[in-house]
Amino acid sequence: MKDFKVVQIPAMEDNYFYLIHDRVSGKTAAIDPGQSAPIEQVLAAKGWKLDLILLTHHHLDHVGGVVDLKKVHRCEVVGSEFDKKRLPFIDRALREGDEVHLGEAIARVLDVPGHTLGHIAYYFEANEALFCGDTLFALGCGRLFEGTAEMLWKSLQKIAALPPETLIFCAHEYTAANARFALSIDDHNSALLERAREVESLRKQGRPTVPSSLGEELLTNPFLRVEEGAFRKSLQMEGKSSAEAFAEVRRWKDHFHG
Ligand SMILES: [Zn+2]
Repeated sequence: MKDFKVVQIPAMEDNYFYLIHDRVSGKTAAIDPGQSAPIEQVLAAKGWKLDLILLTHHHLDHVGGVVDLKKVHRCEVVGSEFDKKRLPFIDRALREGDEVHLGEAIARVLDVPGHTLGHIAYYFEANEALFCGDTLFALGCGRLFEGTAEMLWKSLQKIAALPPETLIFCAHEYTAANARFALSIDDHNSALLERAREVESLRKQGRPTVPSSLGEELLTNPFLRVEEGAFRKSLQMEGKSSAEAFAEVRRWKDHFHG
């Protein structure tokens, strides 16, 4: 991580935009800039110029700042091949396995559909960082706006197979609400109880709970834990596959008001 700096920018109601800066080349990329002003403020403060914009999916709170930023910085914009028509301003369309370079830093593209059909994530393997938009959240996962539960489950499994030290830079601060839901179905999980307390304390101080590590998510995120037999049994879903259990838990969460 030493040559790779991530700046987390809280914006709008509960979004996180990110700037990543490669210290070797001095190049800077924005990830999911839903607005241009918060990005411009940080660029000005740091004395950076924007070279690249990485988009995870087409929702307005992730792309709203692109046109203005592109006009000012003439930066390259990359996004999913699948969403080429919905992201008319992209310069390069990406597919699974493609690489995006920011100076010395390299991201590999993962297709992670479910929240939307063209959702992709950017995995900086050498930097142990994943920018996954609205796919996996701290203690939660994205809603199914376009894809099926089966599809999102496969996408989450792809993320779950990355090294556990990978930092999960998701696009929203939803963790406190996610913790309430997680506790409602997994209240014997001591790692979750401890994490929920931590989340509460961080939020009281107005501090972010993102990023988390994938390892933490595997132990505490109910959407990933359905893979575990004992947890599935406690949900009375022994006869169900992980994907079916995931679909059911996703439905519960949609109707949860805690
Ligand atoms: Zn979204």
